Amino acid sequence: KKITIAIDGFSSTGKSTIAKLIAKKYNYIYVDTGAMYRAVTLFAKNNRFVTHDFLDKDSLIASLSNISLRFQFNENLGFAEMFLNNKNVENEIRTLEISQLVSKIAAISEVRKKLVAEQQEMGKNGGIVMDGRDIGTVVFPDAELKLYMTASPEKRAKRRYDELIEKGDIVSYEDILFNVQERDRIDSTRDDSPLVKATDAIEIDNSDLGIEEQFEKICELINQ
Ligand code: C5P
Repeated sequence: KKITIAIDGFSSTGKSTIAKLIAKKYNYIYVDTGAMYRAVTLFAKNNRFVTHDFLDKDSLIASLSNISLRFQFNENLGFAEMFLNNKNVENEIRTLEISQLVSKIAAISEVRKKLVAEQQEMGKNGGIVMDGRDIGTVVFPDAELKLYMTASPEKRAKRRYDELIEKGDIVSYEDILFNVQERDRIDSTRDDSPLVKATDAIEIDNSDLGIEEQFEKICELINQ
């Protein structure tokens, strides 16, 4: 039977790495909901609805019906890329600037309502592994398997830093660590769907656990 797997946790806890491995092995659909919040943030930024010290919430809300999000599987990459209004924005949504603005956008109830509805539609037939902050609590409260991933802020910042450097971005570790901690704070204290561990979620701390070890453990849970 194809089940629904919800993976929640803070940024860079290894959620997407694990989710991609599960999707490949079990032939499930993988949905990175963070990419959806990032794409809405890019839309808001491009329309000058948001900057570092400004947010025009009403204009963004009024424009929500003009935002169309789509995932398109890329055979070469082995995962789906994000398209915003039919444009591939996979690279544009991964910059530090978008990471610095996204928690503000994700705190808007109307934005969450739109994205949660789209996520529920994508998962209505099961056979899906979805990662985010509110998947086991809000999007799929009845998911058969819920994972809650954690790791120290320093480890997570180092991972994100290495990823951005590899892509050729010019960033400092201190800025990344600050962003990781700031997003943790905003994501866990916002009024609407703050990040909390679902009571029936299994916690996986991967600060010191290797990917293979984790994946093995999770496959055992799926096969149960
Ligand atoms: O997972 P990622 O770090 O790409 O997510 C980017 C941001 O999107 C998070 O910091 C959070 O503010 C928001 N988010 C959310 N709910 C989700 C997924 C992401 O609020 N389900």
